[in-house]
Parts: sequence; C-alpha cells; structure tokens
Amino acid sequence: MTATRIDGKAFAARLRERVGAYAAGFEKSVGRKAGLAVVLVGEDAASQVYVGAKGKATLAANMASFEHRLPSDTTSEALMALVEQLNNDDSVDGILVQLPLPDHLDEQSIIAAISPDKDVDGFHVINAGRLSVGQTGFVPCTPLGCMMLLTDRLGDLSGLEAVVIGRSNIVGKPMAQLLLDANATVTIAHSRTNDLASVVRRADIVVAAVGRPQMIGKDWLKDGATVIDVGINRLPPEPGKEKGKLVGDVAFDEASEVAGAITPVPGGVGPMTIAVLLRNTLVAAHRNAGLEAPADL
Ligand code: NAD
Repeated sequence: MTATRIDGKAFAARLRERVGAYAAGFEKSVGRKAGLAVVLVGEDAASQVYVGAKGKATLAANMASFEHRLPSDTTSEALMALVEQLNNDDSVDGILVQLPLPDHLDEQSIIAAISPDKDVDGFHVINAGRLSVGQTGFVPCTPLGCMMLLTDRLGDLSGLEAVVIGRSNIVGKPMAQLLLDANATVTIAHSRTNDLASVVRRADIVVAAVGRPQMIGKDWLKDGATVIDVGINRLPPEPGKEKGKLVGDVAFDEASEVAGAITPVPGGVGPMTIAVLLRNTLVAAHRNAGLEAPADL
C-alpha cells in the first residue's frame, strides 16, 4: 500500500481564502476590520520569523494586524499593562503573546492576564477548561488544525482507536480532548509509556507530537492507519550544506508503505497552525460583535 499524502498546505490555503472572504464580509457589515494583536518580547530569531509570518498572513486575510515588539528586558508589569490595554481595545479581537518569553517573565501569569474571549491561541486555563467540559471557547491552533485534516479525511471518527503521542498543554492534551469529543477511543502516550510501539500499533489514528526525528517507523503502524505528524525536527546538516533537513516524528517514506494516509513534514500540519489562528481571530471578532460565526469557518 502507498499512503495518500494529506496536503495540509493546500487545505490551509483554502481555509485562509475562506477566512479572507468572510473577513471582508465582516468589515462590510460591522464597519471595522477584525484585528489580531501579536506581542513579541525579545529577539529570539525563530519567534521573529513566526511573528512576521503571522502579521503578513493576517493582512492577507483582510484583517488588521497590530504588532508589539518589546525589548528583552521588558518588566512583567509593563507586559501586563500592554495586555490590559489590548484587552480593553475594541479594535483588537485576538491577542497572542509569542512564546517562549524571556526567563524572567512568568508565561502562565501573562497568559492568565489575557481576556479569555481574546485568547485566540486557546492557552488560557478558562479555554482549556471550556474544552474539557465541552463549552464553546478557543481551541489551540495546532490540534484544531490536525482535527480539521482528520475529519476531512475520515469523516466520522466514532469508535476509532486514536493514539496521541505527547501530552503537552498546547498539542497533546487538547488533541486528545478533541478526539474524545469526536467519539474516538483515545490513548495518550508519552515518554513514560511502556512498549510504545505496541500501543501505537492499535491505532486507526496516530497523532505524533513528540519532537524526536523519525521516531515512528513502519513497524509501529497498523495497516491503513491515518498518521498526523506534528513534529518539526531539524536533522544535522549534510556535508557542504548549511542547514539540515526538516523532518517529522514519523519516518515518512517507510511509514507511507503501511499507513492509509499521512501528513508530510514540511507541508502537513505546519501550515495549518497560522490558518487556524486567523480562523480563531475571525471567530473571536464575530463573538465580540455579537454575531454568529459562519459555520464553515
Ligand atoms: P513538548 O516538548 O512540550 O512535548 C513533547 C511530548 O512528547 C511530551 O509530552 C513527552 O512526554 C513526549 N515524549 C518525549 N519523548 C518521548 C518518547 N521517547 N516517547 C514518547 N513520548 C515522548 O512538545 P510540543 O510543544 O507538544 O511539540 C511537539 C512537537 O511538535 C515538536 O517537534 C514541536 O516542534 C512540534 N510542534 C509543531 C507545531 C506546528 O505548527 N506544526 C506546533 C507545535 C509544536
């Protein structure tokens, strides 16, 4: 068998187009653009790239982008004051504080200061709680993107065996919750799981969110499994090359011999994250304006 390649890049492009069209409609009916504020503290190179990409994508989706770049010695009080200002700003529908923050700033207390109704990253404990009890809130972008790819591929997930590898608050745990809400039978595996390979072999759906290059080989997979690879890992550079290749947590080529469908890295889950961030922002804008968000967002 050769697995179908799940094209996250194309799916994300379609989602961004839909968001852009609905965002234009939002502006017409409400008289202002939906807005996303992104806060970056410090000079972390990867974070600068992410923030730049988010700003560009926001503008391309007909929404307003507010970037706040603060020096690395910004105090907790100053950052809190900015978050409070953004909480009270009616032109801002979504607030994202780019992580990681410099060591002297406590991420949990900064996230707790964001209004849950503007927490488009879905990291606030109120939104984690809402997800866990089945209330409407905001769901972290990466797992929600994975879920969109899964339902697009498989339709109804009822009764399917799903194994999520990784238990982080931003990927593994919310992913498991979403799968449970979709009536899958869910196992969360992690670094202390015994005989991980045989746990994964039970799965109709495997979501790998570990951060270990090509850990999951074909022997770990059940025939026909749907594999969502969240991992982003850089291999050491080959001789003469400056940068190593980007790979996922799954050994893509060999896993493709067994899986029914699989996301590549890059071009799978990665592009979904920003597209879902734009989607969450536009949903927040509708809610903040007292409107129902379009059902196909
Ligand atoms: P994390 O480091 O917070 O969590 C990793 C998890 O993997 C932990 O829960 C740990 O228990 C588990 N783990 C570690 N070693 C293991 C092992 N040997 N066997 C089984 N489980 C093991 O990471 P995270 O933030 O959840 O991210 C996971 C991966 O996903 C990383 O590669 C990250 O770069 C990537 N990621 C991608 C996106 C995206 O947009 N595509 C977004 C977020 C994270």
